[in-house]
Amino acid sequence: MKKLKPRIKICKVPGCHKETFTDKSVFCGEHERVFNSSVKTAEKAAMLVGSLVLKSLVGKSKK
Ligand SMILES: [Zn+2]
Repeated sequence: MKKLKPRIKICKVPGCHKETFTDKSVFCGEHERVFNSSVKTAEKAAMLVGSLVLKSLVGKSKK
């Protein structure tokens, strides 16, 4: 009678119906890796933008 939903979560990537790598992760093992590498890239980009903003701020303060 009871419809027990399986605890298995499915990867959030559209078109991917694999099980998630761990309980806490939202992606399958494959996409988890892709996501992690993209986070690292985003961090690098954020640092780059941050340093550029800092430079522009320093440049403005100098007259
Ligand atoms: Zn996936």
